[in-house]
Amino acid sequence: MTQPTTRTSDAPGPARAGRDAEDFEGQYVSKLVDRWDQLIDWDRRGAGEQDFFVELLREAEARRVLDVAAGTGYHAVTLAQQGFDVTAADGSAEMIAWTRRNAEGRGLSFPAVQADWRRLGEHIGGRYDAVVCLGSSLPHLFQEADRRAALAAFYEVLNPGGMLIVDHRNFDAIRRHRYSSSGNYYYCGTGANVSIAHVDGRLCRFQYDFADGSTHHLDVYPILSDELSALLIDTGFDTVQQFGDFQESYDIDAVDFVIHVARKQ
Ligand code: SAM
Repeated sequence: MTQPTTRTSDAPGPARAGRDAEDFEGQYVSKLVDRWDQLIDWDRRGAGEQDFFVELLREAEARRVLDVAAGTGYHAVTLAQQGFDVTAADGSAEMIAWTRRNAEGRGLSFPAVQADWRRLGEHIGGRYDAVVCLGSSLPHLFQEADRRAALAAFYEVLNPGGMLIVDHRNFDAIRRHRYSSSGNYYYCGTGANVSIAHVDGRLCRFQYDFADGSTHHLDVYPILSDELSALLIDTGFDTVQQFGDFQESYDIDAVDFVIHVARKQ
């Protein structure tokens, strides 16, 4: 892991968050990107997810998969290892560089491109059987028009019969001030304490306190699960299924993440 090379986030007040937060690349400074794999813990994340995504994709007979929020490459790499024909994309140059490094380090080679979802078509050619947008990434878009544009772009690159899998933290519970994280899913590392510094209907600010005493903040839009399902239907998806922590039947007050599986006719 390299030393921080760019500015750090020093807890701006929520009032300043709007404009800064929309700059997702500015939020993923080296200081945080270089620690992402520490936050995730690939082995523990794999144990939490089991084969949930692989099974969904196999059931749908998906072959070509586009990971549009690759981050450091966890899903792109694990899906490539399972034999899927993977393309990785991410809007952050630093994140996609980590995807390439993590793939190469495991002897894998697949396309990895820097692409903002809202201009996906400019960077991604061809059609895919599935698009995955995981790790609570979509909430980086604060404007509804941007969320609609991103979902429309994901829809566009899907083959007929294709599937979009998109997830988010359980903001239904977080907005009711019921944040708790089991630590079993997605962000499983033990080197940072994650808490909510602020939440209202427009902004959720996560605070990452690292073991070395440093603190980082990440601002996102706290999307509700029914809000996203409605957007998916508006986008043109035929059906949308919701899962809580990988279970079809779940208690919305008890799960860490909500996963939406949308199918295109
Ligand atoms: N999927 C990875 C994971 O689960 O570890 C990364 C999740 S991280 C919370 C969110 C990712 O979404 C970041 O890598 C960020 O660069 C990317 N992202 C945010 N907004 C984006 C946008 N408008 N276009 C493309 N990527 C974006």
